[in-house]
Amino acid sequence: MKSIAEFMDMVKARNPNEPEFHQAVHEVVETIWDAYHANPRMVKGKILERIVEPERAISFRVPWIDDKGEIQVNRGYRVQFNSAIGPYKGGLRFHPSVNLSILKFLGFEQMFKNALTTLPMGGGKGGSDFNPKGRSDNEIMRFCQSFMTELYRHIGPDTDVPAGDIGVGGREIGYMFGQYKRIVKEFTGVFTGKGATWGGSLIRPEATGYGAIYFGIDMLARNNDSFKGKTIALSGFGNVTWGSIKKLIELGAKCVTISGPDGYVYDEEGFNEEKCEYLLDMRASCNDQAEDYVKKYPKAKFFANTKPWGVKCDVAVLCAIQNECNVDDVKKLAENGCKLLLEVSNMGCTADGAKLAHEKMLFAPGKAVNAGGVAVSGLEMTQNSERLNWTAEEVDNKLKHIMHSIHDACVKHGKEGERINYIKGANVAGFMKVASAMLDQGVV
Ligand code: NAP
Repeated sequence: MKSIAEFMDMVKARNPNEPEFHQAVHEVVETIWDAYHANPRMVKGKILERIVEPERAISFRVPWIDDKGEIQVNRGYRVQFNSAIGPYKGGLRFHPSVNLSILKFLGFEQMFKNALTTLPMGGGKGGSDFNPKGRSDNEIMRFCQSFMTELYRHIGPDTDVPAGDIGVGGREIGYMFGQYKRIVKEFTGVFTGKGATWGGSLIRPEATGYGAIYFGIDMLARNNDSFKGKTIALSGFGNVTWGSIKKLIELGAKCVTISGPDGYVYDEEGFNEEKCEYLLDMRASCNDQAEDYVKKYPKAKFFANTKPWGVKCDVAVLCAIQNECNVDDVKKLAENGCKLLLEVSNMGCTADGAKLAHEKMLFAPGKAVNAGGVAVSGLEMTQNSERLNWTAEEVDNKLKHIMHSIHDACVKHGKEGERINYIKGANVAGFMKVASAMLDQGVV
């Protein structure tokens, strides 16, 4: 292929109607293009053409019976993207928007993110268009059991190890793990994000949020700055928002927003530990909207159908869903004095939004800044293989070490004069590791 445009035309023709996947591929290809073409072995080995093709993409029927006795049918997926550096690894997402394009973009990103963690994990992603909103606990259990009744044949502790993502937390993993164990008659580390009493790692629930803030600490430190006293705007009110706020409170920052698809909440007083823990109740209820926070804490204000990116803040932390921050949002953030944007949601910025954020402020791309979650999942796999549990302190120290090394890799590969292009740094470091493993393993 002579140009990025020609390569992208090929990707679009082979994967029609998959805009999120095209967006994710384009972002990687435009940043690694020069480094890739400086390596004739990679070009001859057609690594780029091979790496954009998932090794396997499975889709399956998930029938289940709701509380009224009616049959419901959803679609389940597992995209096993790349196993060059280890077993497929990546979360499951239950959300009505889930389709093959979204899971391919997530699996593609996951492969590079997992390479950045320094741990031996390949990339994968899966899920279903099932909407847990408003569903009873029994309905969620029946859905998870039906989903696993098909997925079990494609996964295993040395083959493919799923975890949580949007709509899939400890409860759902419990139901799926229970069904897996029942079918295969084995108690193995086939999932990460398990409960702490049955093989889960301490710190895994907090890991994505904590890891993101550790990465942010390093970015600010390079600029002789810190989180102390900073005002932070966050989106979402799920697992990642909770973990990020928990660490930010500890560091003396003031977190003032959360959000849901219904709008955002502004809490001028800032979150304390009690308010932060309330997010877990909201997430677990499956019924709550962000607005419900205001019913519990009436001094906070709710803004319907609006994103939190218009508030005055020093730092913005994206923790909800892909493309939740566009060019206009980045402009508003910059005008209001935002100096650091952490894209903790996967592909939280539109392509233009990410480019502008890199120009206007310090910008951390998802695949680097949110890698703490999968890193601790990797540590959970190690603990399961050893049949040992490490203390919270041990896991947290390893997480800090991994996030430092990801930051170092971004700095090494993303240096542009005095500035660091974290998008380029993360993509080049992740890509080169997977690509050289693929070269070593021949044409497979
Ligand atoms: P989660 O616990 O399900 O929380 C997702 C949150 O985002 C919920 O509060 C949800 O609200 C909100 N949300 C969904 N659609 C939205 C929209 N259109 N606008 C605003 N808010 C919206 O999921 P999570 O695990 O925290 O994941 C959040 C993000 O981080 C995702 O992009 C995920 O891929 C990424 N991530 C997660 C992990 C992990 O370890 N969990 C690791 C790496 C990256 P409703 O519940 O009302 O829909």
